[in-house]
Amino acid sequence: MGGAAHHELLKLIDQMLSDGLETQTEPFPETDKEFGRILDELRALDRADLKGKLVISGFVNHPYGPDQQRCQECMYYLVHRKWCDLPELAVPVEPDWWCRLWRI
Ligand code: SF4
Repeated sequence: MGGAAHHELLKLIDQMLSDGLETQTEPFPETDKEFGRILDELRALDRADLKGKLVISGFVNHPYGPDQQRCQECMYYLVHRKWCDLPELAVPVEPDWWCRLWRI
């Protein structure tokens, strides 16, 4: 994704979250099976359904939980591209955001 398109999409996601989009932050998938179920839900979405992706994966635009987890420490985060590399998501994200597919 090019710089301008990346920036626009990042801004759009930030706006949707700032506007109070309610996303499914719970339950956190404790096992591979639960994790896989969320991926299945994401795969069932229309590719262009950005809102659906954010809702199902439980996006928030701030660190989350008692451990203050963040994209920055997630194994799917590409720091230099500000990008979530989980194929089912594949969206730009800020380092201090979070979603329930967070993994290390
Ligand atoms: S999987 Fe979730 S927590 Fe991890 S980088 Fe992507 S959006 Fe952030």
